[in-house]
Amino acid sequence: MSTRFEGTYLGDDARLPADARLECGVCWWVYDPAEGDELQQVAAGTPFAALPAGWHCPNCESPKARFMVLGD
Ligand SMILES: [Zn+2]
Repeated sequence: MSTRFEGTYLGDDARLPADARLECGVCWWVYDPAEGDELQQVAAGTPFAALPAGWHCPNCESPKARFMVLGD
């Protein structure tokens, strides 16, 4: 299943582009920085790396570490 993804996030915020979109490895929900996360009061334009440590997937509640970087 991992072959589906461009790369795994692994908590490496420093190397993550600000406009990177990441997909939940559990439910495939996608975090798009252009949209933010209204449910958890994350403003549009917030990079994934800038999300609070306690942020989790709004769909299945997986932690940030379960997200995978999406390719173009
Ligand atoms: Zn999820």
